[in-house]
Amino acid sequence: MATGNINVTAENIFPIIKKFLYSDHEIFLRELISNATDATLKLKHLSTLGEIKGGIGNPMIEIKVDKDKKEIRIIDQGVGMTAEEVEKYINQVAFSGAEEFVEKYKDKVEDSGIIGHFGLGFYSSFMVASKVEIFTKSFAENSKAVRWECDGSPEYTLEETDKTDRGTEIVLHIDDDSTEFLEENKITELLNKYNKFMPIPIKFGTREETLPLPEGAADDAEAEKITVDNIVNNPNPAWTKNPTELKDEDYKSFYRELYPMQFEEPLFNIHLNVDYPFNLTGILYFPKLSKNLDPSKDRIQLYQNQVFVTDNVEGIVPDFLQMLRGVIDSPDIPLNVSRSYLQADGAVKKISSYITRKVADKLISLFKNDRKAFEEKWDDIKIIIEYGMLSEEKFFEKSDKFALYPTVDKNYFTFSELEEKIKPAQTDKDDKLIVLYASDVKAQHSYIDAAKEKGYEVLLLDSPIVSHFIQKLEGSKENIQFVRVDSDHIDNLIKKDEDKISKLSDEEKEKLKPIIEEVIPKETYTVQLEAMDSSANPFIITQPEFMRRMKEMQATGGGGMMGMGNFPEMYNLVINTNNDLVGEILNTKTKKKQERLVQQAFDLAKLSQGLLQGEDLTNFIKRSFQMVK
Ligand code: ADP
Ligand code: MG
Repeated sequence: MATGNINVTAENIFPIIKKFLYSDHEIFLRELISNATDATLKLKHLSTLGEIKGGIGNPMIEIKVDKDKKEIRIIDQGVGMTAEEVEKYINQVAFSGAEEFVEKYKDKVEDSGIIGHFGLGFYSSFMVASKVEIFTKSFAENSKAVRWECDGSPEYTLEETDKTDRGTEIVLHIDDDSTEFLEENKITELLNKYNKFMPIPIKFGTREETLPLPEGAADDAEAEKITVDNIVNNPNPAWTKNPTELKDEDYKSFYRELYPMQFEEPLFNIHLNVDYPFNLTGILYFPKLSKNLDPSKDRIQLYQNQVFVTDNVEGIVPDFLQMLRGVIDSPDIPLNVSRSYLQADGAVKKISSYITRKVADKLISLFKNDRKAFEEKWDDIKIIIEYGMLSEEKFFEKSDKFALYPTVDKNYFTFSELEEKIKPAQTDKDDKLIVLYASDVKAQHSYIDAAKEKGYEVLLLDSPIVSHFIQKLEGSKENIQFVRVDSDHIDNLIKKDEDKISKLSDEEKEKLKPIIEEVIPKETYTVQLEAMDSSANPFIITQPEFMRRMKEMQATGGGGMMGMGNFPEMYNLVINTNNDLVGEILNTKTKKKQERLVQQAFDLAKLSQGLLQGEDLTNFIKRSFQMVK
């Protein structure tokens, strides 16, 4: 038996490690299973090279928990280690890795979120164990099995032992303050979180399986039960396969495997596969977005060689694609660095733009291959796409090929189709193309109607970021302006050269204005006299586009909007001077009656905008009943 001193300068490294990794103690299991996996993959590799005599069978990894003895064992059938290798890889290499870690990160405790991702490897076992043993026997011929033991001080023991089979068994003597890891449920939870798709089968206990009844069995025959290994992982997840091997159903069933609690089917998927200039595989899904979607759940999962790392892909995937689901697996994403560094990293930038490009290409091909189906999905994917167009210039450039602009009548135009279609009718006297849109078909019904009457198209743009979105479009496309149908009277929205003749003289108009202003709340409503068709309503409430849009942008977090104060709720009250009622108001002799008429017309205009509520509504109903009496 030999004892020795582990080669470290830091006298007692473990208390520091424990402190650093406090919130992430659980990663010890992931690290030890990763090592067991590496050792097994090495063995398989050597076997294919013909360097191993005899077969290697189907090596697996086993996890055993003994609650009474307070032990966790991680057993593999991999390459194992000789005494020299233990000296080298465990005592020197692993320790120096730990030491380097402490040196590098001792001032950055607050970054502990990423510290868990640091490959602390073997020594992370001391976060939960007061003593660790290794029993290992190398695959090399005539090698002797050895036992290594260490209690977390820089001293270790190394001696021969009588292990007969190839591989490594790690025994963790669990510390009193980590006994939660002796619970079967806890281990199952961790295996599910980190090891669900690792490439070597992992056994944790056994389970009962019911055999199917033989054909022609009696009705009351008991099905036979057998005990089988409980394999906790799927070693060949869909993303590691070739896309040509997979059918639509395979992608869907992998989605269910990834998110067992998610019952909604994904809309479509994107299989990622690159090996130059970086390595990356994965499958992304467009989920059906619903109002009650919880963005913190079922997120994209990041793996490194099939080992789960995190479901926080901030910095790796552009913001707008974080609403997608699925898996990204890349050995090339540096995990031991802070998020801000990640964003500046060249490889990561390339990965991010590759993913963006792949998503755009997929959208183009979906649109081209089956436009009808794409249109049907539009409502579910538009938020992601509009957000992408807003935030990623490259994506915006490509979006002309797939972004759709639906009308209130459910026709879907691309931008160029839209332009072509509305150009003749909706170009104003200054040669500007005016795009009319509605955000709510029911609430804006009368305005939509008035626009259609004129032969105009009205788009339905109802996503929450629409004000930002159209602002972006106006800024990028030439000579175009978006206005919501209820932001002014239709003749003012698309101004043509013709001037309507007013039935009222200027003198009469000057008389009329104060009569109306006296009745309505002036701080909220601005009176605007317009000569319109006599058939158009006498009073119309509109909300000017600019103010409303700024208000909306502020509400949905517009970057440059801060500090501009709160925009007040402001409306215009458009008076149609050519409507007979307006003439009647002007000519009414009794002041009281005149006021009543104005109030009634004003309330009706409010009613059609859904603005009449509370006491005003009650009074309106009372007044209306009196009038029809
Ligand atoms: P890393 O895995 O990043 O190399 P670790 O600290 O996890 O760092 O492991 C250090 C080394 O110890 C490994 O590179 C490997 O050579 C050896 N080792 C650890 N666990 C095993 C195992 N189960 N079987 C064989 N070798 C192992
Ligand atoms: Mg390791």
